[in-house]
Amino acid sequence: MKTSARLKASLAALTALALAWPALSAPAANAAPKKPAKPARATTVVVLTFDDGDASNVTAARMLQRHGMRGTFYVNSGTIGDEGKLTWRQLAALAKAGHEIGGHTVDHARLDELLPDEQRAQICDDRRALMKRGHRVTTFAYPFGAVDADAERTARQCGYNAARTTYGLRHWGCRTCPAAETLPPADRWELRAPSSVLDSTPVRHLKQQVLDAEKAGGGLVPIIFHLICDGCGQYSTTPERLQEFLGWLEKRRSRGTVVRTMDQVVRGKVRPLPEE
Ligand SMILES: [Zn+2]
Repeated sequence: MKTSARLKASLAALTALALAWPALSAPAANAAPKKPAKPARATTVVVLTFDDGDASNVTAARMLQRHGMRGTFYVNSGTIGDEGKLTWRQLAALAKAGHEIGGHTVDHARLDELLPDEQRAQICDDRRALMKRGHRVTTFAYPFGAVDADAERTARQCGYNAARTTYGLRHWGCRTCPAAETLPPADRWELRAPSSVLDSTPVRHLKQQVLDAEKAGGGLVPIIFHLICDGCGQYSTTPERLQEFLGWLEKRRSRGTVVRTMDQVVRGKVRPLPEE
C-alpha cells in the first residue's frame, strides 16, 4: 500500500511537471496531439464600451485592435452619417474587424421620460435599423443611463439580451459601490458600470477600477468612453490616455484579466424583433 501510494504521488508530481512545462515533455510517437495550452483563467472581464457613435471611435477601434482587443460600440442609428458621427460604412468596418455594434436608441432619447410606445419606437426601431444593415445587435445601452421598469421591459421585448446602465459600480464618485458586476450579471437588464470616463478622469482611476475588481475576486467591469480626441469636450478621452490604459490593461492578462465585448460576456443568440 505504502509503495503504491508513493508511486501515485510520484506520478502526480510527474504529471504536474509535464503540465507546467509542456515543452519539456516530448509526446510519445503515438500520443494524441496536445491541445494548445489554455490561457490563465479569466476572472475579471473588462468590456470597453464607446457610446454615441462619434467619428473618433474609429481611432479607438484601431488602438484596441493593436492590443488584440475588441470593443462594444453603442450607436444611435438615427445619427449615423451625421457630421462628426460614424458612417454606415465605418460601422460595417468596425463589425468586420470583430467589434460589437450595440443599440443606444434612434436619437439618444431619455427613456424614463417617454411613454412605453415611444420607448418601443426608440429601442425597437433603432435595433431594426442596425439589423437591416446586417449587424448582430444583441446588447443595448440606456442613453444617460436613464432607465425605469418600462424601459427594461421594452429592451427585452425588442429582442435584446442585456442592457447597460452608467452607474452602480465603484468609481471616484462612489467608493462604497461594488467593484464589479457579478458574472453572470445579477440583473442583465440593468448591467452596472462605473460612471462615464470624462476628460478630467486620470488613467490611474481607470486602472484602479480594474485593480479593485481583481482584488474583489473578479467580475464584469464595463468602462464607458465617448469621444476619443484631445480637448473636445467633457466626455472625451485623449488618444494618449486611452493608449496608456490599453497598454497597461493588456499586461493584466497574466493576472487573468481579459477584454471581451458585451455580447461575448452575455452570450445568447440573436433574438428576433417583434412584429412592426
Ligand atoms: Zn449616450
